Amino acid sequence: MRDNVFNKKVFIKSVKENLMTQYRKDLSTASNQEIFQAVCISVKDVIMDEWLATQQTFAREQPKTVYYLSMEFLMGRALGNILLNLSAYDEVAEALQELGLDINAIEDEEPDPALGNGGLGRLAACFLDSLATLGYAACGCGIRYRYGMFKQQIIDGFQIEVPDNWLEHGYPFELRRPEYRYEVKFGGHVEQEVDENGKLSFVQKDYRSVWAIPHDMPIVGYKNNLIDTLIIWDAEAKEVFSLDSFDKGDYQKAVEEEMLARNLVDVLYPNDNHVAGKELRLKQQYFFVSASIQRAIERFKQKNDNLMDMPKKIVFQMNDTHPTVAVAELMRILLDDEHLEWDEAWEITTHCVAYTNHTIMAEALEKWPIEIFERLLPRVYQIIDEINRRFVLEVQARYPGNDEKIRKMAILYDGQVRMAHLAIVAGYSINGVAKLHTEILKKQELRDFYEMFPDKFNNKTNGITQRRFLGHGNRLLAKWVTDKVGDKWYTDLSVLKELTDYADNPKAQEEFMEIKHKNKVRLAKYIKEHNGIDVDTNSIFDVQVKRLHEYKRQLLNILHVMYLYNVIKENPDVDIYPRTFIFGAKAAAGYETAKKTIKLINNVAEVINNDSSINGKIKVVFIEDYKVSNAEMIFAAADVSEQISTASKEASGTGNMKFMLNGAITLGTLDGANVEMYDEVGADNIFIFGMSADEVIEHEKRHDYNPIDYYNNDPQIKKVLNQLIDGTYSANDRELFRTLYNALLHDKEADKYFILADFRSYAKAQQKVNRYYQDKNSWAKSAILNVANAGKFSSDRTIQEYVDDIWHLDKVKIDNTGA
Ligand SMILES: *Cc1c(COP(=O)(O)O)cnc(C)c1O
Repeated sequence: MRDNVFNKKVFIKSVKENLMTQYRKDLSTASNQEIFQAVCISVKDVIMDEWLATQQTFAREQPKTVYYLSMEFLMGRALGNILLNLSAYDEVAEALQELGLDINAIEDEEPDPALGNGGLGRLAACFLDSLATLGYAACGCGIRYRYGMFKQQIIDGFQIEVPDNWLEHGYPFELRRPEYRYEVKFGGHVEQEVDENGKLSFVQKDYRSVWAIPHDMPIVGYKNNLIDTLIIWDAEAKEVFSLDSFDKGDYQKAVEEEMLARNLVDVLYPNDNHVAGKELRLKQQYFFVSASIQRAIERFKQKNDNLMDMPKKIVFQMNDTHPTVAVAELMRILLDDEHLEWDEAWEITTHCVAYTNHTIMAEALEKWPIEIFERLLPRVYQIIDEINRRFVLEVQARYPGNDEKIRKMAILYDGQVRMAHLAIVAGYSINGVAKLHTEILKKQELRDFYEMFPDKFNNKTNGITQRRFLGHGNRLLAKWVTDKVGDKWYTDLSVLKELTDYADNPKAQEEFMEIKHKNKVRLAKYIKEHNGIDVDTNSIFDVQVKRLHEYKRQLLNILHVMYLYNVIKENPDVDIYPRTFIFGAKAAAGYETAKKTIKLINNVAEVINNDSSINGKIKVVFIEDYKVSNAEMIFAAADVSEQISTASKEASGTGNMKFMLNGAITLGTLDGANVEMYDEVGADNIFIFGMSADEVIEHEKRHDYNPIDYYNNDPQIKKVLNQLIDGTYSANDRELFRTLYNALLHDKEADKYFILADFRSYAKAQQKVNRYYQDKNSWAKSAILNVANAGKFSSDRTIQEYVDDIWHLDKVKIDNTGA
């Protein structure tokens, strides 16, 4: 079915018709945006048939379904990815070419649906792609933020946040489904009622409520005719506010519900690995969780009459603690609406809910004040209180007289609801996202829980979809790989191993480096257009792109650049191969240190890029507005991948995997999934530096780290740090970077992330990179071996592990002859 629709002639005809019916235009007068919309309508026609066929198959076969609950889905653009997965990309590109259009220009008309911050949201998007491709019934559940992740502008070196109005032109791939709406209630109070049988029931009164309206997005499997669904929920007022209400006497209620619906899904909180603790955020969490669970249960009941069978058909995977209120909401519905007994409801809940932990950092742990919780979700809070009461009894039974255990493990403590504890107590599976991370959870952060529930804990090392990050993002390398090992890698990335045979082959090496160069030219063009900076495409492209966070240590990177610049100034003949240091990062709007770091990078760039005395040996570029669409291009062009987080702090990382798949060599610490990348690629093909996770954790326990020692004992470090406050990079305002200087040397937790401790080791590893690149064959060999050993890091592998160990989903085959 997919084949003939994308027959070039048929497709061109369809696009022309759409232009005519939508805009009364032809190709000569239509804008690229209009052509983009027309192309999408043609593609949507194909999708609709397959989507319906998939849903009919699911309804008939009743496969077990995973509901992936996530506050974030960082989808990136859909059109190119959908065409690729429909195996229609080349045909459509050719068809557009015949019309004198460049498919890249048409793709550029699509806004990035940026309904996520960074790694966590992108993981959810990669997982959906893999679930559909592997043939599993899956439903992503999230929020249709009217404004996604802000757009970043760099003005005078500072980050400026601009609203991302991604729905401005309408989003062609979403389907609004008001007929499947659900009511979600907030506030009020709970009344106990006794029915004629003397049974107690709990009723929420005087609440304010909104409609949750689902919008479906298609998740197209790769060449398998299967289309899963991402539901993003929009909020709507129950009745359009009218002055009539004034007479009815519920004016106040109508106004409040109108306001609630209007604000609820307005914006995505722009914090990555950091809680904002805002009441509206808790409302968002409950809103999408309640609607998603109502939907899952209603679907289940259409075909099943015994709720005790729910665990055979449904699993809710909670992406971090953000959707953890799901535990109590599921209990509430089973108790209050379905009238089950507590033990029955608990039996179902604890076999339907699983939790993924994404971080061990204290500032990211969600704890809600009981006061807010109780006021906003009175019945849900009662249930959490009861779950806690029973759990505390369990702990007391196991550790009699040990109050310390209760203090450490209770769900409710010190006036707060500890969401991670609720997720662990109720979830039947608790997973970390890389081997090292899971070990740290078991041995340190969640040690008490591991002792109590050892069988719940497991590891699922993250992954990425090769379809987007190689197949779509790096078409040249994708073709090269296919020429060498066939196209099976699209659905089985482990076949990349066969590239090992080519690593030593000089011709293959040359081809590989030629492709890398072409990708560097493509990125250089983007940089010229967006930053106005000329970069040397023969220089080493050394890239750090990811959210800006102190633990990710962009500051270490830029301090090292400042150090290198000093070295070159002191010795102009020093052996340094030309290098372009490329950064891309958004900082949370309220995160001052992160924003200062962006300003520092830009000021260093300004000084270095304009110093003709260094002959362009090093350049610094800050790419504005890092997002999925430009990320795809950046990974393809990278020689060096900077993965330099303080060991133990990066749970997994997934950017690291995207670089590896594109043949960049990692310069990194033994943190997160870097550890497993090292195991896969071998010590000769990765540059490792810095303290180990154990060493970091040991220092943190002993409180014995003093960065001043490094400052006093290393004149080059001292010089670089002094340059933060002597006007070298802020001639007009010497105090501009004082906060960064103090954070490294004088603040309470000075150099919390061990930048100075790791500096020398990092500089040394950088020197190794400098030497190694000049041995072109060795470099090419290592780069090819990185691609060859990236197979493990496919999200297909990750998802299959979730299915085997946690979800136990049924594989579905979609028959494409019927539809
Ligand atoms: C992969 C990805 C991330 C995560 O990168 P890390 O280096 O793992 O933090 C963040 N943002 C975008 C746009 C990505 O594609």
